[in-house]
Amino acid sequence: MGQIVGIDLGTTNSVVGVVEAGRPIVIANSEGTRTTPSIVGFTKDSEIVIGDQARRQLVLNPKNTFYNLKRFVGRQWDELDDISISVPYNVKSNDSGSVRVLSPFTEREYAPEELISSIIRKLVNDAETYLGDTIDSAVITVPAYFNESQRQATKDSAVLAGIKVDRILNEPTAAALAYGFEKSSSNNVLVFDLGGGTFDVSLLKISNGVFDVKATCGDTQLGGNNFDSKIVDWLAEKFLMKYKIDLRRDRQALQRLTEAAEKAKCELSGLQKTKISLPFITTSDEGPLHIEEEFDRKLFESLSQDLLDRLFEPVQIALEDSGWDAEEIDEVVLVGGSTRIPMVQQLVKTLVPKDPCQSVNPDEVVAIGAAIQSGIISGDLRDLLLNDVTPLSLGLETIGGLMKVLIPRNTPIPVRQSDVFSTSESNQSSVVVQVRQGERPLASENKSLGKFRLSGIPPAPRGIPQVQVAFDIDANGLLEVSATDRTTGRKQTVSISGGSNLNEQEINKIIAEAKSKATEDRKKRSVIDRKNNALTLIAQAERRLRDASLEFGPYGAERQQRAVELAIQDVEEFIDDDDPRELEISVSALQEALFGLNRRFAAEKKIENNPLQGIKNTFGSIKDELFSDDYWDDDDDPWDNQMNSNYRNSRYGNSRNEDPWDNDYFL
Ligand code: ADP
Ligand code: MG
Repeated sequence: MGQIVGIDLGTTNSVVGVVEAGRPIVIANSEGTRTTPSIVGFTKDSEIVIGDQARRQLVLNPKNTFYNLKRFVGRQWDELDDISISVPYNVKSNDSGSVRVLSPFTEREYAPEELISSIIRKLVNDAETYLGDTIDSAVITVPAYFNESQRQATKDSAVLAGIKVDRILNEPTAAALAYGFEKSSSNNVLVFDLGGGTFDVSLLKISNGVFDVKATCGDTQLGGNNFDSKIVDWLAEKFLMKYKIDLRRDRQALQRLTEAAEKAKCELSGLQKTKISLPFITTSDEGPLHIEEEFDRKLFESLSQDLLDRLFEPVQIALEDSGWDAEEIDEVVLVGGSTRIPMVQQLVKTLVPKDPCQSVNPDEVVAIGAAIQSGIISGDLRDLLLNDVTPLSLGLETIGGLMKVLIPRNTPIPVRQSDVFSTSESNQSSVVVQVRQGERPLASENKSLGKFRLSGIPPAPRGIPQVQVAFDIDANGLLEVSATDRTTGRKQTVSISGGSNLNEQEINKIIAEAKSKATEDRKKRSVIDRKNNALTLIAQAERRLRDASLEFGPYGAERQQRAVELAIQDVEEFIDDDDPRELEISVSALQEALFGLNRRFAAEKKIENNPLQGIKNTFGSIKDELFSDDYWDDDDDPWDNQMNSNYRNSRYGNSRNEDPWDNDYFL
C-alpha cells in the first residue's frame, strides 16, 4: 500500500507534507523549493507547465497561464465577483453556468478542477520521487468557509489527479493542529490566516490533543492579491495621469505591474521603503516609457486602509459565535504569507491583546497540519482527535415558509440530526424537502441548497403521515439529506453538492442581515404564526361540526353549531387581512364558540356514562379541560388528538422547550 500525504492546496502557493519517522515534514519540489506556486500554463507547443515554470511565463504568456484558480473551484459563473474575474487570461461561463478557463494555445477550455488536478499531480509526483514510494491518497486542506460544492470540487480535482482524498481539512484547523502538536496544555487559540486570496479566522479549543473548532468566519475574496492590486492601481493611476495610457488595459503590462507590486509589498515587510522600477513598460509615439517610483510603508498603509477594515468584522463575528472575549484567547497563530505585513500584525494585536505566536512558519504550517492529519489516518500518529464545525445553520422549509433548523451553525461535525415532519393537507401524497442554509427565520430569506420530493405517501388526514428527515454532515463538511416515510419505508436521499452554494461573503452578509432584520422577521413570523393557527382552528372546528351533526342531528345543538359556523366565517374573512387584531378577535370568538360546542359534547357523553359525574366535570377548570388530551380524546379519533395538540402547542408553546415553532412541522 502506498503512502498518505498532506496537501495545502493554496490559492497562491501549494505545499506538500508527510509524516516521516513520527514527525511531520515539508517535501521540497523538483525545483528544490518547499512551496509550489499554484499556477498552471501551456507553452506554444501545447505543453503543460506547473508551478515555478508556469510562474516564469506569466509575463510573456499571460493568456495561457492560469493562477488564482482556487477562486473558481466549485463556483458558478454568477457567484464570481469582479476581482476574481479580472485576470489576464480568459474566463467564461459555459452553457450550464459553470466557470471555464480558455487556453488559446491548446484551443481548449478547461474546468478549474482539471487544471488544479495537474497541480496536485505535480506535488504528488515530486513527493513520490522524494519518498521513493507511491502515494495513493491525501489529506487536502480548504478554507474553512468553503461551501459544499467547493469542497466537492476540491475532491474532484484530486480524483482527476488519480488520488483518493482521505479527508478534506479546514486550513486554520490544520494550522492549529500543527501548532498544538506536542502541546499538552489547554489553550484557546485564534488562527488568523491571510493568504494570497482568502482570509480565515478560526477559534479553537485545544486540550490534550483534542482540537475543537468553536467558530469560524472569514472572507474568501480577501488576501495578499488585494494588497497587490492597491499598489497596481496606484502605479497605473500615476502613469495614466502622466501619459494618458491605462496600463491595466494591456495584459502584459498588467502582469508586470502585479509582479512588481507584489515584490515591493514583500520588501516593505522588512524595509521602510523600496523602489519600483519597470523599464519599457509600454511605448508611446515618443518611444518607450518606463516606471521608476519610490514606494514606502506609509504610502502602502494609506492605500490599504479599506482592506484592513475588512479584517475586523470576521474576527469579531467569530469571537461572538464562540462566546469568548478577546481576553480569553491564550494564543494567536498567524498563518499565510500576508500575515508578514507589519500593519496586519499590528491590527491583529488591536483585536486580541496577545503577541502572536512566532514559532510557526506561516507558509508551511497548513501543510504540516495536513501531514499530521495524514499521519493520524495512517496510524503513524496517535492520540489526536479533531472536531470541526458547520459554518451556517442548515434546515428545511416548513408550511408557511418558515425555516426549521436541524443543525445550528457551529455544530461540531461529523453530525447527524433528524426530525419527524408531517403533511399539511389531507391525502397529500408527496412532500417537498427544500433544504436551506442561513440564519433567518423565514426560509425564503435563506439560501436554497436544493430540493427533492418524497412521493408515494398513502392517503391520510393532515398531520398523520410521519416523514423522517435526516441531515448527515460527514467529516469533510459534505451534507447528505434523506427523507423516509415511516409507514411505507420509502426513502429519498440527496447529496448536496450542486454549484449553487454560499460563499463566505454571502455567509457574513446573511449573518449581518439576520441580525439587523430580527425584529422585522419576528413580525413576519408572527403573521404566519397567526394565520397557521387560524387555519388549524378552522379545520378543527369543521371537524367538530361534522361530528356534532352526526351526534346530535342537524338541530340537536343548533345554537352552538350556528355560533361555530358564524365564527368560522369571521375568521375566514380576516385571515388574509393585514390587521392582526381583527383576526385575533375572530379567532378567540371561534375558540369560545368551539368551547361551547365541545361542552355540549362533554355533557352528552358524561351524562350517558354517569349523569351526576357529568355535571360536576362541567364546572371544573375551564382551561384544564379545554387543553387536556383526555377531554378531546373522547371519540378516540387520532385526528382530533393531533389537531388539538398542534393547536395547543402552537398557541401556548411546547412545554418541553418553550418554542412554539419547534413542534408543528408540516411540509
Ligand atoms: P495561499 O494560502 O493563498 O496560497 P500563502 O499563504 O502562500 O497564500 O500567501 C501568499 C501571499 O502572501 C501572497 O499574496 C504573497 O504576496 C504574500 N506574501 C508572501 N510573503 C510576504 C511578505 N514577506 N510580506 C507580505 N506579503 C507576503
Ligand atoms: Mg494558505
